[in-house]
Amino acid sequence: MNGIILVLNAGSSSLKFAAFAAAKGVLTLQCAGQVEGIGATPRFIARNAEGETIATEGWAGGGAPASHAAALDAIITWLDGMLDGRPVVGVGHRVVHGGPDFSAPTLIDVGVMAELQDLVPLAPLHQPHNLAGIAAAAKRFRGVPQVACFDTAFHRTQPFVADTFGLPIAYHARGIRRYGFHGLSYEYIARRIAAEDPVLGSGRLVVCHLGNGSSLCAIAGGHAQASSMGFTALDGVPMGTRCGQIDPGVVLHMIDTLGMTTAEVTKLLYNGSGLKGLSGISGDVRAIEAEGGEAAERALGYFAYRVRREIAALAASIGGIDALVFTAGIGENARGLRARICDGLGFIGVTVDPARNAANDAEISHDGAGVRVLVRRTDEERMIAEHTLGVLAARG
Ligand code: ADP
Repeated sequence: MNGIILVLNAGSSSLKFAAFAAAKGVLTLQCAGQVEGIGATPRFIARNAEGETIATEGWAGGGAPASHAAALDAIITWLDGMLDGRPVVGVGHRVVHGGPDFSAPTLIDVGVMAELQDLVPLAPLHQPHNLAGIAAAAKRFRGVPQVACFDTAFHRTQPFVADTFGLPIAYHARGIRRYGFHGLSYEYIARRIAAEDPVLGSGRLVVCHLGNGSSLCAIAGGHAQASSMGFTALDGVPMGTRCGQIDPGVVLHMIDTLGMTTAEVTKLLYNGSGLKGLSGISGDVRAIEAEGGEAAERALGYFAYRVRREIAALAASIGGIDALVFTAGIGENARGLRARICDGLGFIGVTVDPARNAANDAEISHDGAGVRVLVRRTDEERMIAEHTLGVLAARG
């Protein structure tokens, strides 16, 4: 299968893309970028494979895209000039929710689209945008296979105890489960570790995907066993603006006693909590660290404490830990937070070499440590491209 695999990730106000050249089963990144600010003040930015900015557009002269379809047109028009006439042979889409049944990347047809539409109530803030991206691409690339790659799919190997809540069992059957998210990132990391070191890859990993959205995943034998995220992407550790784990009684109290509407509570839990809510500064770790002081300390201290707790809990869920892996914006870069998170985990064998951590080495534990502590860059776009290629190859 030779040609271009286009990866699309449609968010509420952004459309991210990456173009990979596929030749003899090998994928080579050509360029990536996004239109952000759709519906407000759209901006286009594209980077080459080295991450250097190669194009920007602010549409100051008018003609700014006002929808995902228009943003896709803008991206395609720009890509046409980049790809030297090489055809797009497949489009891979990031889809946040695959529900209980989609446990693998799936070729999209009318029936699949209808099933994905039925899952909108499970992810009302994200799924509609993902589906808008698919609809726009299907129209723009008639006849080109479209593949849905799910953030939840990797977690479908979780045992029942990790997949359920303590509710009457009928609710589990109705889809109220711990789905887990960031699955494409975890799958990429699990495969990468296995490729680097097959023995470690078949062992027990706890992976910390710490970005604006953060979660952790316990992986054993290459398969997901438990996630810090549950029914929605609100659960687990605190995030940039999301609260993380919270007693559901707090939500009831806000509605019943404080008189807040569900819309107000939703906004608070998704957009006004976590690092932003606790610090009052920002949801961005760099901004909080730059500001410093007591409020910054409060937010970063809580973040490190909750992530540390979750690491130990997930290690317990898989009977121990062979490697701890940090990834995503915070995990890959925030040395101070990494050290804080690991401080106190010596009892499960996790320790960090300060010099290696400060140098942002790929391995930040001491030589011969019982638990290897690794830093790896995640690449969800490549994972989607690989899945898309796999589905196309299987289709023949
Ligand atoms: P998203 O979930 O939107 O993909 P990212 O994975 O890009 O987010 O992570 C963004 C977070 O990573 C922000 O809190 C940002 O401050 C943090 N981050 C990125 N680089 C650094 C750095 N050098 N030091 C500390 N934090 C960083």
